[in-house]
Amino acid sequence: MNRERLANGLTQMGVAFDQRAMERFEAFHAILDEYNARMDLTAVLDEDERVDRHDLDSAAPLAHGLLAPDARVIDVGTGAGFPGMPLLILRPDLRMTFLDALQKRVSFLDDALTRLGLTATTLHARAEDAARMEAHRERYDAAVSRAVASCAVLQELTLPFVREGGVSIAWKGPGVAQELTAGRRAAFLLGGKVRGVLDAPVPGREDWQHVLLITDKTGKTPAIYPRKAGTPGKKPLGM
Ligand code: SAM
Repeated sequence: MNRERLANGLTQMGVAFDQRAMERFEAFHAILDEYNARMDLTAVLDEDERVDRHDLDSAAPLAHGLLAPDARVIDVGTGAGFPGMPLLILRPDLRMTFLDALQKRVSFLDDALTRLGLTATTLHARAEDAARMEAHRERYDAAVSRAVASCAVLQELTLPFVREGGVSIAWKGPGVAQELTAGRRAAFLLGGKVRGVLDAPVPGREDWQHVLLITDKTGKTPAIYPRKAGTPGKKPLGM
């Protein structure tokens, strides 16, 4: 791992880190390589791109001070642990839940968490099903999600997890404007209100035009949502 690139990037973003975090990033990269050699876990990137696309990009909410100390956070559709694992490495105080519909990714995360000496919950489920479980419905201060679905679909996959007063944070690219109208309507139906879009530049990669879509949870999600697994993607709310 290119430690210097990661350290410089975090510093430019104004995100604090310590030696232990650097060691854990290095160990996490090694575990990813180990798994990628025997299964198709995540796209194989060169060292610099991995630092930028995975680690620095995932840290964006910390540059904006969006996660309070000890916040309960769920990473919906975490895949190989993004953005949740870099957030937890940088902020081990967070009470993180990693959710994914694919068992092999959840098993990888269980192993990685143990080896990194980090504590978190993992959940193998569809978001639509997990959000109906009492232990998870409206229990989180924040839901984070990257590269999972369009804004309207994401609102239905994330807002039911978030408590009133909490926030949904979605990583988006330059196409976000086209998705916003439906995303706003969907949020309204789910007890949320789009606050806006924050720039989330990755140092040295300004051409990526990454942003965070911030949706506040302003009321309760009606019991009919989320609809059954698969329906949010097939018939997005607000379209
Ligand atoms: N967030 C990761 C990242 O940025 O690298 C992974 C992105 S990957 C393109 C999308 C992930 O979302 C996959 O791991 C998939 O299994 C998961 N996923 C998609 N729909 C889901 C759902 N309804 N419930 C739970 N996981 C879901």
